[in-house]
Amino acid sequence: MDSIVIDLERDLDELRGYYRSGKTKDVTWRKSQLKGMLSLIKEREGDIFKALKEDLGKHHVEAFRDEVGVLTKSIKFALNGLQGWMSSKKAKLPAVALLSSAVVLPEPLGVVLIISSWNFPFGLCLEPLIGAIAAGNTMVVKPSELAPACSSLLANAIPDYLDNKAVKVVQGGSVVGQRLLQQKWDKIFFTGSSQVGRLVMSEAAKHLTPVTLELGGKCPAVVDSLSWSWDQEAAVNRITGAKFGACAGQACIAVDYILVTKEFTSTLVALMKAKIKDMFGENPRETNSMSRIVNKQHFLRLKRLLSDPNVQKSIVYGGSMDEENLFIEPTILVDPPLDAEIMKEEIFGPFLPIITLNDIKESIEFINSRPKPLAIYAFTKNEALRKRIVSETSSGSVVFNDAIIQYAADNMPFGGVGESGQGKYHGKASFDTFSHYKAVARRSFLTDFWYRSPPWNEYKLLLIE
Ligand code: NAD
Repeated sequence: MDSIVIDLERDLDELRGYYRSGKTKDVTWRKSQLKGMLSLIKEREGDIFKALKEDLGKHHVEAFRDEVGVLTKSIKFALNGLQGWMSSKKAKLPAVALLSSAVVLPEPLGVVLIISSWNFPFGLCLEPLIGAIAAGNTMVVKPSELAPACSSLLANAIPDYLDNKAVKVVQGGSVVGQRLLQQKWDKIFFTGSSQVGRLVMSEAAKHLTPVTLELGGKCPAVVDSLSWSWDQEAAVNRITGAKFGACAGQACIAVDYILVTKEFTSTLVALMKAKIKDMFGENPRETNSMSRIVNKQHFLRLKRLLSDPNVQKSIVYGGSMDEENLFIEPTILVDPPLDAEIMKEEIFGPFLPIITLNDIKESIEFINSRPKPLAIYAFTKNEALRKRIVSETSSGSVVFNDAIIQYAADNMPFGGVGESGQGKYHGKASFDTFSHYKAVARRSFLTDFWYRSPPWNEYKLLLIE
């Protein structure tokens, strides 16, 4: 551990010195680093797929869709936008500052820390890195120890493609994370649980360091009685794919539970059962299209969620588990008790509880009586309901008639609110999150207003007004 501390301090000194040298502020440097990231992803694509398979059993097509493809698009978006994002914007000063000019210009924050999670190990590390580089910072990145093959690939590959004086990868778990948090940073960008997010914020407060917290929570999907069989089919296809086909439900924006009216429940369950069979076959244990649970500890956590006898009674599909292969079958539950752990903690796995309501409008009250989610999904053709969901609830994002697509949008900020996090990134928001917008004003000496300074009298007040 001592050697980590010594190395860390040496690394931090180097990062601070390099930042002060001004090298990372240069647009050519920023572009070269973004291009380096692009080459890393392109040239090491096979290794990325292999590491994701090893750590999470992710199919390479899913890995391309959710990590390689999204990252490639995000880097290209940053390369295209960079010059414009970096440019200063003119601002107006009040009339009492006659003969003046002003600009607002983005400057990098300095030396920043990025701590990330394991479920999308490349995306969650490199997506914020795009913003930190684009904004001209130097940085330490700590991937999650729970995806060791991915963490080791990032640690080995990043120095081959990026400027090692500006980007350092530190591997390790919570002890290393705590050591990192004890240092003084100019910004901390954290992706992970609310529990550790609280620790990050309290450590950051000691240095008044700004934080972005990308946390989790329970994301509901409101399913209104859809009128046509095509709409029902599309809704079920999208929910099932987003829940079980994106890291087996181990995603911060996965559908955590469904809210539906009683009369539509049996139709929804029947459609979902058929869709799960379409996607993962008659014997899902044999599928290679569904990721595995990340490790035994999380497997046992999920097993515990299902072990409550009242929760067991609510299972209408699935429920089988293979501990040796860390596989859990897609599982649907109808009306598990609302005070059971499965309805209180974020599921982060392939269980999908369906909560039945008398009227779909009750969904708004249901959502509002719980912590603000990272995302709300609603499958509905009812415009009045859509308006109410947008205006009467609070969440990081709202998506109608689909799920998870907001993660891939460059023009929409991604982030939570309340317990699901604070701060935003993706697209220009990533640049903004790692920048300070500095106000720079300049006046000429040619004019001066005598009434702007003391001694005060009522006549001066009239002139100032
Ligand atoms: P976690 O909080 O356990 O760990 C996250 C990171 O923090 C890891 O790198 C870990 O090593 C580090 N860490 C753990 N304890 C620490 C400590 N005491 N001090 C400093 N660092 C510490 O979370 P996780 O298991 O990696 O991720 C699951 C959670 O992350 C879920 O709640 C999920 O919703 C959330 N998540 C959010 C997003 C998002 O974009 N909002 C994305 C992915 C995951």
